[in-house]
Amino acid sequence: MQLQENNEMETDLLVIGGGINGTGIALDASLRGLSVVLCEAKDLASATSSASSKLVHGGLRYLEQYEFKLVKEALKEREILLKKAPHIIHPLRFILPHAKHLRPVWMIRIGMFLYDFLAGKMSLKKSQKISLVGSKEGQQLVDEFKVGFAYSDCRIDDSRMVVFNTIEAKDNGAKILIPYRCVEAKRQGKKWQVKLLDNSNKEVLVNAKAIVNAGGPWVANIIDDVLETNSKSGVRLIKGSHIVVPKLYNGDHAYILQNKDGRIVFALPYGFVSEHENEFTLIGTTDLNYEGDPRDIEISEEETDYLCKLINGYFKKHISSQDVIWSYAGVRPLYDDHSVDPSKITREYHLELEDQNGKLPVLSVFGGKVTTYRTLSQHVVDKLKPYFPNMGSCVTDRVPTAGGNAHSFSEIMQQLKKTYPWLEAKHAYRFAASYGMKSFDVLTDAKSYDDLGRCFGYNFYQKELEYLVKEEWVTDVDALIWRRSKLGLWLTKEQVAALEAWFMRDL
Ligand SMILES: Cc1cc2nc3c(=O)[nH]c(=O)nc-3n(C[C@H](O)[C@H](O)[C@H](O)COP(=O)(O)OP(=O)(O)OC[C@H]3O[C@@H](n4cnc5c(N)ncnc54)[C@H](O)[C@@H]3O)c2cc1C
Repeated sequence: MQLQENNEMETDLLVIGGGINGTGIALDASLRGLSVVLCEAKDLASATSSASSKLVHGGLRYLEQYEFKLVKEALKEREILLKKAPHIIHPLRFILPHAKHLRPVWMIRIGMFLYDFLAGKMSLKKSQKISLVGSKEGQQLVDEFKVGFAYSDCRIDDSRMVVFNTIEAKDNGAKILIPYRCVEAKRQGKKWQVKLLDNSNKEVLVNAKAIVNAGGPWVANIIDDVLETNSKSGVRLIKGSHIVVPKLYNGDHAYILQNKDGRIVFALPYGFVSEHENEFTLIGTTDLNYEGDPRDIEISEEETDYLCKLINGYFKKHISSQDVIWSYAGVRPLYDDHSVDPSKITREYHLELEDQNGKLPVLSVFGGKVTTYRTLSQHVVDKLKPYFPNMGSCVTDRVPTAGGNAHSFSEIMQQLKKTYPWLEAKHAYRFAASYGMKSFDVLTDAKSYDDLGRCFGYNFYQKELEYLVKEEWVTDVDALIWRRSKLGLWLTKEQVAALEAWFMRDL
């Protein structure tokens, strides 16, 4: 698909939104033989898809809301994704300390059993009741917690999954337009005529046979203002915030903590520097109704205090807002089922399809989870089959994620160490966990640190920076240090300023 001289292009499908869902849909459709254009207004994963708790999970707490179908789908997906992306998805053991205000021990045990049962055949360790007295998991908690439960889920690098979907979609012929905002879409004769604008208001016109609206928190705005169609469905914006503090406890396990108000907060090992060693703890999330523009939202003081207070009720080591190294906030674009309590709104996704006399469909995505992006994408593209009868069937459950073409994470590490024996251990780990087998495209024929160019701080070198700019749509420091990587956790202010200067000079 070529961009014509007059900045006009023809495509089967236009996908609006470069979050986990939009990129997953673009990838699925391109693998089935459709021509695809994906437009993203700001940057890949610049909204909700880099602000999640970074878990691939069934959602133990959704059992309390009887969302068995959702939990089962997500747990089945956990197994598929773990195999597809061993570089960016890793098993994680969770500890649930039993507090007096929780349900009785026997009831939680049944819930855990149900969680494992719904997962079916699983490669992860099953759940068990554990004693916290004298144990590694218990000694860092206040003494009141004597009994707990352990169960398994996975952690994921959410924004890197978005990038890998996009790289794969591009490799399959999709045209990726970033930053291009979709501002107008009209049905004209046999095509959707769509207008996109970049940051300098340069216009691109796309003639598409179908549109998918994967605008996340903006899904309803796109329906009302861009597509000028009517929708039967609504979206509920629920804000969730996280804080990152220096490592709060020893061990590579996570904690799932329930507050007296019933809300769940996770304490997760973060900033891994080797397979089992991490330097930070990620804590979240809050769950608050949100109105207003979902762009660039921030954690409030009350939310930070809420998270710190909850942690201080469980851990011997106390934290305050002074310990917060980094924080982020996002809004869940949930399908509005009219629940009063934000925590009780369904996490199931909802797809709304509209067409004109059986032609020119537009499909809008409401809700979803990072965990279920692949099945959501499959269902979206399946729904478009009547409009593209010749398209193939879904293969994303079998095709490895870009960089994930290895049997295991250890295999990636071994191959990296063999080819680049001079890479320091932490550096090799960061490459394996960020790029997987794509590390070889980044490091190419480098034979020593001298071949990596200028060091910008920590273990970040010019060669990687140039790769990110050329292959991963990076145009600014924010994308670089918070979305394509989490280098911002380690770089000093001066080092970030040097990177800013590099972008000012070279782009
Ligand atoms: C606090 C929090 C914690 C979460 N934790 C988890 C978790 O641990 N596990 C899990 O599975 N799920 C989790 N989720 C849910 C998950 O993050 C979201 O469901 C998912 O990221 C939504 O992805 P999306 O692609 O629909 O939306 P987004 O990621 O928001 O993407 C939408 C994109 O559309 C773009 N856009 C908007 N308007 C336009 C336009 N006019 N033209 C072009 N582009 C446009 C935006 O710039 C944005 O990039 C969490 C969510 C939150 C908020």
